[in-house]
Amino acid sequence: MNKVVIVTGASRGIGRNIAYNLAIDGYTVIANYNKSEEEIMKLKNELMGKNINIDIYKADVSKSREARNLINYAIERYNKIDVLINNAGIAEEKLFTDVTDDDFDIMLKNNLYSVFYLTQEAVKFMLKEKNGLIINISSIYALSGGSCEVPYSMAKAGVDGLTKSLAKELGPSNIRVNSVAPGAIDTDMNSNLTEEDWNEVKKETPLGKIGRPIDITRCVKWLIEDEFTTGQVISPNGGIVI
Ligand code: NAP
Repeated sequence: MNKVVIVTGASRGIGRNIAYNLAIDGYTVIANYNKSEEEIMKLKNELMGKNINIDIYKADVSKSREARNLINYAIERYNKIDVLINNAGIAEEKLFTDVTDDDFDIMLKNNLYSVFYLTQEAVKFMLKEKNGLIINISSIYALSGGSCEVPYSMAKAGVDGLTKSLAKELGPSNIRVNSVAPGAIDTDMNSNLTEEDWNEVKKETPLGKIGRPIDITRCVKWLIEDEFTTGQVISPNGGIVI
């Protein structure tokens, strides 16, 4: 059987691109979504048009029960999880002093707790198999810090902490754990940026361009093929953080 891959937050942006391309490459993809039902159906139908089936699964991964149910759905259906891609995430720009306890809670639940719930549930299974790969989509803000995005940066730094610690703990069991930390990528997450903002980002980026979801997908694909990389934070970012 082909490798079974779970992609969280596959209805839009980076996750959609990863799910689409892995399905095209012949992987068995379970594409998670939460609110964007129409978008995930578009992805499913687009692939159906090419005679490729993907499994879609609705879950709010910021909630422990729903996140764990997603993993157990994959196990029950395929008795196999080769790769878990923790991509789902949210961002919000706010001055640090304006961040409420609720804002902080929401940011941590969606970007960090979700990764804990999903990874823990998947690892229970992967340990029995002595096989597995976890790929966490983190952010350059975990490396460089992001002004007006303190809770987001904290959450993503936490994700990288999980990556490194868990890679040490699970290496002997043949389970690899890595982070991919994108720079600015053109998705809905950045829909607040004006053309002027994007030009500014381009100017500050040594490669002089904005990232696209495919730039992250290529890195993810490489990690799936690789066999000797673990505990790393790989950052496709055009050189904006070196
Ligand atoms: P996006 O276009 O806003 O899409 C976010 C995706 O995450 C959507 O599919 C959304 O699903 C899903 N999602 C959010 N909360 C969820 C939840 N609780 N449960 C399930 N799904 C949830 O964002 P993106 O730019 O593709 O970002 C993807 C990842 O890359 C995120 O982790 C983000 O932090 C990271 N990243 C992005 C950039 C960038 O510049 N774009 C840079 C660095 C890192 P629904 O719409 O179905 O709810």
